[in-house]
Amino acid sequence: MSARRILLLGPPGAGKGTQAQRLVDRLSIPQISTGDMFRAAVAAGTELGKQLKAIMDSGELVSDEIVIAVCRERLTQGDAGDGFILDGFPRTVGQAEALDGLLDSLGVKLECCVALVVDDEAIVQRLLKRAEIEGRSDDNEETILNRMRVYREQTKPLVAYYRERGVLVEVDGMGGIDAVAQGIQEALA
Ligand code: AMP
Repeated sequence: MSARRILLLGPPGAGKGTQAQRLVDRLSIPQISTGDMFRAAVAAGTELGKQLKAIMDSGELVSDEIVIAVCRERLTQGDAGDGFILDGFPRTVGQAEALDGLLDSLGVKLECCVALVVDDEAIVQRLLKRAEIEGRSDDNEETILNRMRVYREQTKPLVAYYRERGVLVEVDGMGGIDAVAQGIQEALA
């Protein structure tokens, strides 16, 4: 049976959100996107939302403490009981360790980490294009370059983390949406 507790890993702009949505449709399990949850908090205009907006606009990471608390809450909701697609979480080794502990306490395991392999220069171009289309406030050149640096320094080590745990599959993320979706489907089989 295809894996149902899935993590999509890759730099900003690699297509995680698009591919997560494909998996939602195909597997009928929820997408858990910390970026989407934080943007919702910003839109709601809460005190936490204001703090999050400043961090997100700079391209830095929200603190592990906040991220882990939000994900703990989300992963224990009923609809995540039969599987989930993590998109944008974990992003640091500390978050990955916290996730392991959380899943342990729920009696389940992460079954597959799909790492989308893309080239950095192409990604920056993709993000600049998305900035024009979606007008996200964290999609300007300075923030994009910072987000790539943050990815390399803090998130990329997770590739080795999940390889060591035997759940890593690398998928070429440079093709069209359908080709990448096909690669992911094969990786999860
Ligand atoms: P995303 O939509 O996943 O690219 O996330 C947008 C922004 O939200 C990131 O640049 C971070 O500032 C913040 N963010 C999202 N997920 C996380 C996470 N797991 N850890 C820390 N910050 C995060």
